[in-house]
Amino acid sequence: MPAKRSRRQPQRTCIGCRRVLTKRELYRVVRTTDGRVVIDPTGKMPGRGSYVCDSRQCWLDALARKQFERALKIELSAEDRAMIEAYAMEHMTAELPPDDPDAAREAARE
Ligand SMILES: [Zn+2]
Repeated sequence: MPAKRSRRQPQRTCIGCRRVLTKRELYRVVRTTDGRVVIDPTGKMPGRGSYVCDSRQCWLDALARKQFERALKIELSAEDRAMIEAYAMEHMTAELPPDDPDAAREAARE
């Protein structure tokens, strides 16, 4: 974990693990003004945003627990879910809670 950060950094809660992190440490998933769901790496897209940290597990948990739906106030289509899951598998680390070393090894092999 990085050391202390400036208090002026805006902070958001990861919808997977509920950790509060600075916006720079989180990925933004946006419901665009035309009702689509997109990943917003710049953090600057207009629309309602939700935030997820870089743990792949958080993305999958958030999908499984419908946290994106809750945060974005939208129903995710099958395509949206597949897109988010694919993004997580491609871009997120396979970091898992330390009490589950087997699953972590499993994920690291992929
Ligand atoms: Zn998280």
